[in-house]
Amino acid sequence: MSDPFNLKKHIRTVRDFPIDGIKFRDITSLIETPDAFVKTCKELARLTEGFDASIIASIESRGFIFAGSIAHDLSLPFVLARKPGKLPNETYKKSFDLEYGSTSIEIQTNTNIKNTDRVAIVDDLIATGGTAIACAELLTENFGIKPENIVILAVIDLPELGGSKRIEADGYTVETLLKY
Ligand code: AMP
Repeated sequence: MSDPFNLKKHIRTVRDFPIDGIKFRDITSLIETPDAFVKTCKELARLTEGFDASIIASIESRGFIFAGSIAHDLSLPFVLARKPGKLPNETYKKSFDLEYGSTSIEIQTNTNIKNTDRVAIVDDLIATGGTAIACAELLTENFGIKPENIVILAVIDLPELGGSKRIEADGYTVETLLKY
């Protein structure tokens, strides 16, 4: 499958984690390799710039690793979508299903997001797409952002799980750096 930036060799696959039957794509080996980490952040920043994003939103926790670098490089506001109970201010919440289990994410109601913003949502990996779509819906439902003004960016796509197709069917743009 596609690997135009030659990043796959830096991603470790861990079988049966966190539960039997899951092939966990582990990005710790990528971020421990400076050249690969820098290249990954640079390509994600290029895609963010190409979309003309005015805000970076990122999903706890592995998305933060990449999103902080992009927000720094492009000097863009950086919004956190966090797991329940972590943010100190009042929040909007969205529940969703994962490849394994279910959870919810939150964005603070006092976040300075305008309905005219263009948002890049950053995560490490798209599996079923549930996480990314929940984050996108937090933005469309509560801040009036239009789906066409949202791009979902991830390092890894697992197309067999249908997430990127689902994201596009919901009217969002999706861009990833490699596919398994
Ligand atoms: P999903 O909502 O199904 O698209 O799942 C994406 C989220 O779950 C991302 O935040 C990933 O970090 C994590 N995830 C799901 N499946 C895997 C996998 N096979 N390997 C590594 N992370 C995964």
